[in-house]
Amino acid sequence: MCLFCKIVNKEINANIELENENFLAFHDINPKAPTHLLAIPKIHVDSFNEVSPETMTGMTEFIQELVKQVGIDKSGYRVITNVGDNGGQEVKHLHFHVLGGAKLTWGHFSDADPKDYL
Ligand code: 5GP
Ligand code: ZN
Repeated sequence: MCLFCKIVNKEINANIELENENFLAFHDINPKAPTHLLAIPKIHVDSFNEVSPETMTGMTEFIQELVKQVGIDKSGYRVITNVGDNGGQEVKHLHFHVLGGAKLTWGHFSDADPKDYL
């Protein structure tokens, strides 16, 4: 069972912020912003590549509720999902990073010039 499935099953502790029948949001153990939450579907989905439109509909509503609950909906925030090796995905259970609470830098991306990849 993957790490985030264990958090869903309460086999591993997490600081849970919001939960409903299908989704869970908890605070990232290594926060990159004053507010750094991870929103996940309770069912195991490897990545954004495999997620269904139905799950995304629920996820959208869930994240909208989450950002209101933690009070960052008006000040602004960023939602990120990393996919695969190039995306830097470490945990192979779909998760959306929700970052806010301060003016965010553009630092989650490579500093390299796009031309350097060519
Ligand atoms: P990824 O790099 O896969 O997009 O993001 C994985 C995230 O999960 C990282 O930001 C990392 O800090 C977080 N993380 C890894 N293990 C745990 C854990 O056991 N508990 C919590 N709350 N977050 C975790
Ligand atoms: Zn899982």
